[in-house]
Amino acid sequence: MQDIIEGFIRFQRDVYPQQIALFKRLSTAQSPSTLFVTCSDSRVVPELLTQAEPGALFVIRNAGNIVPSYGPEPGGVSATVEYAVAVLGVRDIVICGHSDCGAMTAITRCTNLEHLPAVAGWLRHADAAKAINQSRTYDSDRARLDAMVKQNVVAQLSNIRTHPSVAVGIANKTLQLHGWFFDIESGGMLALDGRTGEFLPLLEHPEIYAV
Ligand code: ZN
Repeated sequence: MQDIIEGFIRFQRDVYPQQIALFKRLSTAQSPSTLFVTCSDSRVVPELLTQAEPGALFVIRNAGNIVPSYGPEPGGVSATVEYAVAVLGVRDIVICGHSDCGAMTAITRCTNLEHLPAVAGWLRHADAAKAINQSRTYDSDRARLDAMVKQNVVAQLSNIRTHPSVAVGIANKTLQLHGWFFDIESGGMLALDGRTGEFLPLLEHPEIYAV
């Protein structure tokens, strides 16, 4: 914990003074352009990957970058999506999975999660992706896992479209959805091309989007 506190001290002493104007401007209002949904994994840092300043990204993080479908008893993720879209008026939503994801690994290996009932229940929101993954053959465990991460991104893009605020945004063309896959080792990002279902390097295809 000590390094975390020392980090804050460095922020307060060295970083904040250079960004006083930004924080003053942000002190009474925010207007983020993008809702960024990603895994809680410590190696995936949205602001670092997108070089975003405070105020730019509205972030949801959880195990497996999951967005439960909208239902009669909406939870915290649903409330946060609704607030981002209906109140803050974000124009884009990114759902970003990543390589070596522990949640997706548990699914592909059919790990016994009896001792982790909350995790087991949560990962049920990825059942559609799991079913697709299990219906296919892969050359290696790594290939199966990478495919699962992508299939899960696609599944969560479907889930988020069941949220009324998102459905309205898509219908009225005020909202665009993006599906990303971050590779930790290479630092590369793949993006889903919604027209073909393929994930392509974002670097070479910065214009593509999912929905
Ligand atoms: Zn993960």
